[in-house]
Parts: sequence; C-alpha cells; structure tokens
Amino acid sequence: MLVATGLVLAGVLAGPGPAEGTTSGPEREIVDSIIVHTIGGPSCGGGKLVFSGAPGDAQRWKNFFDRHPFLGIHYVVDRDGVVLASTPEDRVANHALNNNATSIGIELVHEGDGIEPFGQPQIDALIGLLKSIRARYAVPIENIKGHSDVDVRTFACGGRLYPTKMDPGANFPWARVRAALRNERARSAKPARPPQHHAW
Ligand SMILES: [Zn+2]
Repeated sequence: MLVATGLVLAGVLAGPGPAEGTTSGPEREIVDSIIVHTIGGPSCGGGKLVFSGAPGDAQRWKNFFDRHPFLGIHYVVDRDGVVLASTPEDRVANHALNNNATSIGIELVHEGDGIEPFGQPQIDALIGLLKSIRARYAVPIENIKGHSDVDVRTFACGGRLYPTKMDPGANFPWARVRAALRNERARSAKPARPPQHHAW
C-alpha cells in the first residue's frame, strides 16, 4: 500500500528517477517533533548484546528506505556530512512506533553503539538540517529527541533486559546540538529580524 502510493506519486510529480518507490505515508500539515536515529542498533546474538553496524554511505541507506516496503525516513545524514532526503517532510514516514504522525525522522549513518564517536562533519550537518527544519516548522528544542527517548520497549538477552531502541546512543552530543539551536533562536530574536520569521 505504501509502496504503491509512493510509486503513483513519483510517476505523477517527479517522473521516473531516484524518487521512484519512496516510502511515503499520508500527507500532513503539522510537524511538531524531530526524532534522531542511527542506522546501527542492538540485538541479541549468542546470548550477548550485539550491534548491527552501519556500513556504507548515505546513498546506500537512502536507497534502503526508498525501497523498503513499510519503513521510511525523511533524511539520512552521512558520516561525511552529506544529507539526503527520502520521504518528503509533508508526508508521514514510518520510523518510530507510535510517534510518526507529526514527527520528522533523521537517520545518522552511525553504529549507534555508544562507542563510535560522532564526527564533526556529521554533527554539523545534522545541526544545519535541524535549523532548516525549524525554519519551516515550529519544533521546540525539547521536541527534538532520540529514538530511545520515545520507544522504551525492552528485550531479553543472556538473562538481562536491554532497551530495544538505544539510538542515537549514550555518546550522542545532545548538549552541543541543543546549544547550537538555542544560539540560532537567540539570533532570530533580534529586533532587526522581520516579524514574519517564526518566533519560537
Ligand atoms: Zn531508531
């Protein structure tokens, strides 16, 4: 159903091309939150917690989501800072259980294991993307969350319980990202700024 809809839209709006097959849900007008993911995530292997890894580049993962029969994502941000769009912002993407309707999902090409460092090009690109989304939609900083914040299911492995969703991981630099967005808000509050700019 989702794939068929995407194919029809691609044919009507964009013609044949890379957008063909993009997984898109219903149209929407409200976007009030952003959820940050990593490609890598936990599972249980041989009674031990293992991470799936995040091989390849943003184009690989954009293709994965474009063609996936039911999963979708709005943006993929590569380790080198490349940002690729998949599902349009004004359509629902299936990226976070029970949190899809009014959220934008961003996947970072990253292990998400709490160990791989987040490089500056990727975080700078993410900050730029968050700023551009917030220029279009009034998303409060506190509504920018990690997948692990909004999905608190657990799974058993080797006699222990682990969070099903750990992304973007314990070492994600939330303070740095939020500080960059607060600085942006402070600048946009200057009186010289035209009033039609959003006043979040
Ligand atoms: Zn996730």
